Amino acid sequence: MNELSSDLEPHYATVLARNPGETEFHQAVAEVLESLAPVVRKHPDYLHHAVIERLCEPERQLIFRVPWTDDQGRVQINRAFRVEFNSALGPYKGGLRFHPSVYLGIVKFLGFEQIFKNALTGLPIGGGKGGSDFDPKGRSDNEVMRFCQSLMTELYRHLGEYTDVPAGDIGVGEREIGYLFGQYKRITNRYESGVLTGKGLAYGGSQVRREATGYGTVFFTEQMLASTGSSLSGRRVVVSGSGNVAIYAAQKAAELGAQVVACSDSSGYVVDEAGLDLALLKQVKEVDRARLTAYAAERGSARFVAGGSVWDVPCEVALPCATQNELDDAAALKLVENGVLAVAEGANMPCTPDAVRLFQERSVLFAPGKAANAGGVATSSLEMQQNASRDSWSFEHTEQRLHEIMVGVHERCASAADEYGSPGNYVAGANISSFIQVADAMLALGVV
Ligand code: NDP
Repeated sequence: MNELSSDLEPHYATVLARNPGETEFHQAVAEVLESLAPVVRKHPDYLHHAVIERLCEPERQLIFRVPWTDDQGRVQINRAFRVEFNSALGPYKGGLRFHPSVYLGIVKFLGFEQIFKNALTGLPIGGGKGGSDFDPKGRSDNEVMRFCQSLMTELYRHLGEYTDVPAGDIGVGEREIGYLFGQYKRITNRYESGVLTGKGLAYGGSQVRREATGYGTVFFTEQMLASTGSSLSGRRVVVSGSGNVAIYAAQKAAELGAQVVACSDSSGYVVDEAGLDLALLKQVKEVDRARLTAYAAERGSARFVAGGSVWDVPCEVALPCATQNELDDAAALKLVENGVLAVAEGANMPCTPDAVRLFQERSVLFAPGKAANAGGVATSSLEMQQNASRDSWSFEHTEQRLHEIMVGVHERCASAADEYGSPGNYVAGANISSFIQVADAMLALGVV
């Protein structure tokens, strides 16, 4: 990491001491603190009122056992988490992740990022995150349903449309949200639509929520390119991952005239010089829940590469949309050597700190996840708005709102970066703009 100013270093040391072994959380905190030296110099009140210490300590952390029975009748035990990080701006809002790698440090990194991301949207939502080390891969629908029901049997008491509103993330899509909402409804005897977002359209979901994170990432990329007089049209694009964010980032980039030539999953990547066939990709990933090898087997122009790095594929725009720390300095160097112009994080913290530094040193436009992927949570907030007013908006209207929100996120980042002496630095701009908003709300609310 870069050196921290003497004002901020002790706060980071405290985070390390109080949260041992939670390396992803340390990384997320360091990345924010690195941007804040000019802010605390200008506003020493933030230090006097311990805003940073308070921000780094979640308001509430829940850890609980999730027992369930598999299809063979064996009892399985998983561990689940919900970290309610900060509610200065609104109810805790952030997804649930089901992946075997989930532990407290991952949930805290995601929850911490979420506070700032949600502030950047300009909408009234606080930050939280949750998940479980449950691995949905290879599990039947019935197993997934029993797991979701067991998890909600504990989690429901902590949720509420004015308290804490989860959504999806890795391994949690419409199927899982449906099972979770069904169990919440049954236990509480309330049709409280606004308690979960990412719902299906049949029961209170919002148009564009499924597409929102990927679309928003591309809208942000478009704004970044436009600020240098460029655009996505005709650009060669590579995405990583082939899940919810990756698929809809690829779709919007293609709609805007880009050629999306590669994507990946945890087994390897496909290169398709004819441009990804998105209908086939959706069939393989969303319907069949299969591996990318199935895509390559169906598509003559595609080649599957087992295990390698998707960032070896030359491109002008790179959209990492899989998982944290998937793009390291070696991958960043390869992208730079191949002439990359812009990188936008569709995933949360997919680029390592060394990779981010390299992009910035080599004048590659770089959008951090808390700005670039904020369209997902923003549209979740629009879903809450529709649920609260018992309304349902058209696709066109909702996409228009998402576009306006992403233009606003870009504007907030760019103007804070200018004001605090780092023009063009979206990392600094995103951290500074969102920190000030949350910190001012915390000061106004007193020591709570
Ligand atoms: P999905 O589960 O739909 O897809 C995840 C994709 O990433 C899959 O292709 C998966 O491959 C791949 N992947 C996951 N973990 C790993 C790993 N350890 N190594 C290699 N590949 C991996 O998740 P989402 O698309 O929803 O989420 C992707 C990222 O976007 C995450 O960082 C998430 O936090 C972030 N995000 C998501 C939002 C949303 O609205 N869904 C909102 C904002 C951010 P495989 O299937 O082989 O595991």
